[in-house]
Amino acid sequence: MSSKYKILVIEDEKNIRHLISALLEADGYQTVPARDFSNGKMLYFSHRPDLVILDLGLPDGDGTDLLREIRKDSLIPVIVLSARMDESDKVEALDLGANDYVTKPFSSAELMARVRSVLRTAALHTGTGLSPGGVFTLDDLTIDYGARKVFIGQSEIRLTHTEYDILSYLSRCSGKVVTYSAIIKEIWGYSDSGSIKKLQVNMANIRKKLGAKPGKKNYIENELGIGYRM
Ligand code: CA
Repeated sequence: MSSKYKILVIEDEKNIRHLISALLEADGYQTVPARDFSNGKMLYFSHRPDLVILDLGLPDGDGTDLLREIRKDSLIPVIVLSARMDESDKVEALDLGANDYVTKPFSSAELMARVRSVLRTAALHTGTGLSPGGVFTLDDLTIDYGARKVFIGQSEIRLTHTEYDILSYLSRCSGKVVTYSAIIKEIWGYSDSGSIKKLQVNMANIRKKLGAKPGKKNYIENELGIGYRM
């Protein structure tokens, strides 16, 4: 298969690195394993992979520094692996442009679902792309960017100006977790003590208007303590 995706796996723990590579290869991906920061950086530039799975805690450097380096000239999908319980590492990585994160220990099904999801989203965005006047669709949801209108099926959903802006922003990043601070910066341009509350109130209204039900699959997922994912 010539269209095999090439995935760079940067992980210093040998067992985990081997496990991830084996899982990926079993699903038909080509893998390039890297054992530390400098090895990973070298292989990234020599192989130009389609996706990077990046451990944050590496013996000779911090994974976030490599992420910064990658984001200087590339939008290729990056999934961050973190053993740390600290949410702030994940938030930092997402704000630096990571597409997703997986917390160790993870299940193989979870990791593979994340890999498929970021590759699918990346393919979507490099295809026709979302033009400023374009239309976004997700199941029954349609967003008409040109007209600033939102529909579920045939019926129009009435949103306030701010609610529309938030929904529109999330849709442009669909598939990705968008952190609270990234949304606040995008919508209000500044943050103050009331920003998170303001965002939560708007988000509750948006979800209600889109017909969100607890325990059911919704258009927008809340990633507790981190952000939202469309
Ligand atoms: Ca590690």
